[in-house]
Amino acid sequence: MKLNLTLSEFFSRVKGLKVIGSSSSFVDEVVYDSRKIISSKSQVFFALKGDFRDGHAFVENAYEKGVRLFVVQQMLELKSDACYVLVDDCLKSLQHLAKTHRAAFNIPVVAITGSSGKTTVKEWIYHLVKGQVHVTRSPKSYNSQLGVALSLLTINEETELALIEAGISEPGEMAVLADMIQPTIGILTNIGSAHSENFENRTQHLREKLDLFSRVLTIYSLEDYNDLALLNKNLEVITEKSMEKSIELLPFKDKASKNSAMLAIGFVERYFRLDVEKIKSLPRLALRLETFEGIDNSLIINDSYNLDLDSLKIALEYQLSISQGRERVALIGLNEDDQAVMKRVYEIINQFQPIDAHVYSGEIKLSTIQLKDSVILLKGQRAKQMEKLAQKLKLKHHKTQLAFNMTAIRHNLSIFKSKLASSTKILCMVKAQSYGVGLEKMGSFLEKCGADYLGVAYSDEGVELRKAGIKLPILVMNPEEDGYENCMAYNLEPAVYSQEQLEELISELIYLGAERMPIHLKIDTGMHRLGIKPEELSEVLEVIQAQPEVQLKGVYSHLAAADYPSNHLFTAQQIELFKSCVEQIQSYNSDVIFHLCNSEGALHFPSAQFDMIRVGIGLYGISKDPVISEQLKPVLEWKSVVSQVKEIPAGESVGYGRSYLVEKNTVIAIVPVGYADGFRRNLSNGKGAVYLKGQRCETVGRVCMDMIMVNTTGLDVKEGDEVEIIGEHQKIEQLAQAMETIPYEVLTSLSKRVYRTYFEE
Ligand SMILES: *Cc1c(COP(=O)(O)O)cnc(C)c1O
Repeated sequence: MKLNLTLSEFFSRVKGLKVIGSSSSFVDEVVYDSRKIISSKSQVFFALKGDFRDGHAFVENAYEKGVRLFVVQQMLELKSDACYVLVDDCLKSLQHLAKTHRAAFNIPVVAITGSSGKTTVKEWIYHLVKGQVHVTRSPKSYNSQLGVALSLLTINEETELALIEAGISEPGEMAVLADMIQPTIGILTNIGSAHSENFENRTQHLREKLDLFSRVLTIYSLEDYNDLALLNKNLEVITEKSMEKSIELLPFKDKASKNSAMLAIGFVERYFRLDVEKIKSLPRLALRLETFEGIDNSLIINDSYNLDLDSLKIALEYQLSISQGRERVALIGLNEDDQAVMKRVYEIINQFQPIDAHVYSGEIKLSTIQLKDSVILLKGQRAKQMEKLAQKLKLKHHKTQLAFNMTAIRHNLSIFKSKLASSTKILCMVKAQSYGVGLEKMGSFLEKCGADYLGVAYSDEGVELRKAGIKLPILVMNPEEDGYENCMAYNLEPAVYSQEQLEELISELIYLGAERMPIHLKIDTGMHRLGIKPEELSEVLEVIQAQPEVQLKGVYSHLAAADYPSNHLFTAQQIELFKSCVEQIQSYNSDVIFHLCNSEGALHFPSAQFDMIRVGIGLYGISKDPVISEQLKPVLEWKSVVSQVKEIPAGESVGYGRSYLVEKNTVIAIVPVGYADGFRRNLSNGKGAVYLKGQRCETVGRVCMDMIMVNTTGLDVKEGDEVEIIGEHQKIEQLAQAMETIPYEVLTSLSKRVYRTYFEE
């Protein structure tokens, strides 16, 4: 990005209110994440306010890294050699800058929107036209209010075609994107999710999407939306029939890929020269900067499907942001020994020193590279070879895998945040290995996302979090007697739930010589589990007041049935009882954090949010309330791979105890997942199912310790095919129901031996 603006030009483009200080250098590049700042000459830092992060808190950090120009919306302590542009709203200013930047180019700008497939369509158009025209496109899936602005700012003198993705999460946002993008051509991938679609819903979704296209000449889509009175637009429907020849050449057969390819090819055919060879080589998109554990305690980022220079920079930034001081290595494969490309690659990499970079056009030699403990980025033009390398570096585990979508967790947390007052804190419950996801991973991720507190069941879990470098305050709900020393040594905050335990704690603290240990008092308002009775409160408070060893930091209680509408009256009584305790305590001590609600409580009783809520299950996208469940995103995918396929003739039996007798010839697939992984035995003989090729395949015979057999008769299933246990077709809730339990138990009984990966979108 090179904007090449003088300060006064910049000032008017961001609708500045006031300049404080002066700057003589040109403004070239926008930065907003201080962790990603490398070189600072002519960069401008936008102090963006997000849900969790306020960029103003990072101005200092950006200054330390050398930035001297800042766009801010509130005044800060000023440095004499820096320049500040004060604006109303930093995001709006950035959007305005992007809009004026875009307007300066008279080129075709294609806006791509729809519920899914946007990134694929964009990347495939790029694949089909690169070499013919110079394309600027949104990096990764930068399609939000911020991402679109950043994408537009990458348009430059060379650009002959811009491909911009647009996605919205709230009504009304599309108009803002349209105003910025000013598209000349539209592509609509699809609308709404296929299953929950009714006519009204569809119309509404379409209206929102159409906001983007109010000024475009032609919209391309796969469906004829004329039935919905499309506002006199030139709609070109790309039909399967017209695309038959191209479809045959596709390297993928699934429907989603086919749809994306039809749009990309259809568009390219109309405006450019279509090279059919390129259809055969459309890349399988590894768009999520896949990150996994590698050999020698390394961490691998596999972004190897292409090497264009914009995405190289993004990948290096991502590597830097997750490296936490570990050594960074970049392995980059080039098609041929092209000196010019090699030079550009090194120029980009050199901005990220210190990094151990290896650019290859020949064979890749791992022996010379220090892999141990490093964070390794793989990127390259030679997709096959790079993929092989990725496999080689991958720590080998058995084929059943859990993949957690961290972006969805962040989204779910932001949904909670959006329903609370801005001063209300969020404690994230990470007990039981963070509901099976992984304690350390979740703890540090949630800290990064702006959680205020963490909660664990036992002090050992708190110790593990501290050893991982987590600084957030940590509540320990069951500090057993031998845990108090840990609480002290690792700065953990134990719960106090009875008078006896309080005394035990105090005498231990006297023995340890501790003072003012922060504690959270737990009151039983009707759950009838741990907790002091409200009538004991004044006595307990007196003890706490009198003992210098402890300090009352928080007071909490737990709702018994917040997720049952039929029990809302009972919940209201619990809230009232807690309120009366709050009043009583406040007369002693006004500096206490009061917290009552779990996930469902916070969602249904926002007026009972007090000073903090404690969320657990909601982070994983689960709620009994269907409206809320729509807003949250699922986090977990549980996948496996077919080990073997066989035909069983009628009359034979399958599995232990011969409990399944085959009535007519049946094809079964054997999948390496069993009750020792968390796939319960009660799912035997058709009570449970997995999905292959999007089709439900019921279990046949009993679930074994490490394996199941499923019925795949009539499906073209082969050894090595992917199996979905939880994912798009089977939600946790459905599997839980088949297991006759609740999603909490499904999550927490996922065995430790199942390999876990974490990705961000
Ligand atoms: C587990 C737990 C929570 C979190 O509950 P969710 O229903 O998962 O949101 C909150 N408070 C306490 C005391 C808990 O034990």
